[in-house]
Amino acid sequence: MTLTTHTFIGAVLAKMTGNPLLAFALGFATHYLVDIVPHGDNRLSENFRVKKKKRKEIAAFLMVDACVAIFFVLLLANTRDIESMRTFTWGIVGAILPDLLVGLYDLTHSRLLRWNYRLHFFFHDLLIRKRGDVPLYYSLLAQMVIIAYLQTKL
Ligand SMILES: [Zn+2]
Repeated sequence: MTLTTHTFIGAVLAKMTGNPLLAFALGFATHYLVDIVPHGDNRLSENFRVKKKKRKEIAAFLMVDACVAIFFVLLLANTRDIESMRTFTWGIVGAILPDLLVGLYDLTHSRLLRWNYRLHFFFHDLLIRKRGDVPLYYSLLAQMVIIAYLQTKL
């Protein structure tokens, strides 16, 4: 899923739990589970990690996604009555941390980060291996609908 979708999930979990540690843990765990749903980024990921071509495409995609996620975090923080900024923050941090660790592994190939990389792509590729991926365009539209729904819970 996009960082933006994970961000909203983390924010909703923060609101639901009201506890920073629980929000972080649930955000972290649900990241892997939500990524099981095919979400159209397999071609981008394969080009980057396997074929090593069109790498600017995924860099641009991630840059836009990260900026949109930051924009929404700031929008929520400035327009919603957030009971605990600490819980809100830790829910979002937990929800996006697996992707941050994947990016750090891509950059460093550190053995310390390998477990997350393997776990992330175990879940990420679970259904894609059997049934293939969905078109990215449809996935982004679906994620916009999910985000529109999730923002009603904040
Ligand atoms: Zn992910």
